[in-house]
Amino acid sequence: MTKKILVLGSTGSIGTQTLDVVREFKDSFSICGLSTFSRLPLLKRQIEEFHPTAVNVTNPKKEIEARELAASCGIRLTEGNQGLSELVELCRPDIVVVATVGIAGLKPTLQAIGQGADVALANKEVLVTGGDLVMKAARDGGVRILPIDSEHNAIAQCLMGQDPGSIQRIILTASGGPFRNLSREELARVTPDQALNHPTWSMGPKITIDSATLMNKGFEVIEAYHLFGISPNHIKVVIHPQSVIHSLVEFVDGSLLAQLSITDMHLTIQSALFFPERRPNKFAPLEISALDDLSFSKPDTERFPCLRYAYDSLDMGGTAPVVLNAANEVAVRRFLKGEISFPEIAKIIGTILEKHDIIPLPDLETIMETDRQARRIAEEL
Ligand code: NAD
Ligand code: MG
Repeated sequence: MTKKILVLGSTGSIGTQTLDVVREFKDSFSICGLSTFSRLPLLKRQIEEFHPTAVNVTNPKKEIEARELAASCGIRLTEGNQGLSELVELCRPDIVVVATVGIAGLKPTLQAIGQGADVALANKEVLVTGGDLVMKAARDGGVRILPIDSEHNAIAQCLMGQDPGSIQRIILTASGGPFRNLSREELARVTPDQALNHPTWSMGPKITIDSATLMNKGFEVIEAYHLFGISPNHIKVVIHPQSVIHSLVEFVDGSLLAQLSITDMHLTIQSALFFPERRPNKFAPLEISALDDLSFSKPDTERFPCLRYAYDSLDMGGTAPVVLNAANEVAVRRFLKGEISFPEIAKIIGTILEKHDIIPLPDLETIMETDRQARRIAEEL
């Protein structure tokens, strides 16, 4: 039986690669829904190829074009942010691939869990902002959260068949981004174009900047904390510029298990969609004998304080990670527009986090309101 897949953010880096995987495994998967923020021509091509039941165009400024497209394709359309959750309801998927960016994915993820659909999660900000709510809803509903993020997918693979009580530490590998060897002075002068040029992965713009600041790794620490229930002081980050080892688990007897593969998200997406099953594919495996220089070092949180802020936000608890994410979303956008310098991204996040009055155990409304307030401040700083 084929599984019905809804891809939220189908026109992005993860979204398009998810559709590549679905195309390769037509006997296993079909597409029931797609969404884009504003890339309508690509969405149209995807509709023509995959024949979903319904689609969403999230950007309200694209309302007119979106309605024209829906009419010409004869397809149901949902609109705006709220429309993402409506799309989940309309499509009745078996798996929702959440490949949107930022907090936008939180509500539709909760909607999917509420309907009993498994969630294949790329959009890590969902767990950063609403991890407690999402994981509780998933446990209560008996729904699986299948990590697409390569590090967490690696850890999930390393944990297969292992006793959770035997885990000593989780070790997340980080490429270190394009600026890992730059001095503070050099970091102050980097441009958005330089920051968008990631050394090992080709990804959407926001995560590429997050990788350069190490905020991406900070988010991944928070993501690992929620997914695997490991306390933050048992989650370590190591810089591994070659991105060959995707992450490791250390066990109480001193054994380390690692997952290695070529750097290609198609493999990770395939793993998540079939988890825990393995299927052959068209990719050449990693040539292990060609790996002559795998290196590892400690991250420098003086030059890259965003990683430290992520740990701090977990310590602070409650709404602190929501504020961390909101400040980062705004700061990254402002850096890409040329309004602030690269080091000012971290400065804005640090300032907002320090001033924040934490609200413990926030519900969804509190999370969304905290997000709005933190964004307002981040725009003004
Ligand atoms: P992207 O920018 O390439 O694509 C984002 C998709 O979401 C697009 O389809 C876009 O139309 C849609 N979108 C953008 N803003 C939106 C909004 N406000 N509301 C609704 N939809 C919106 O991004 P990406 O690189 O594919 O990353 C997606 C998520 O996956 C991010 O959270 C990222 O951190 C995570 N992730 C990506 C990679 C990767 O290799 N690209 C790896 C690991 C994790
Ligand atoms: Mg990752």
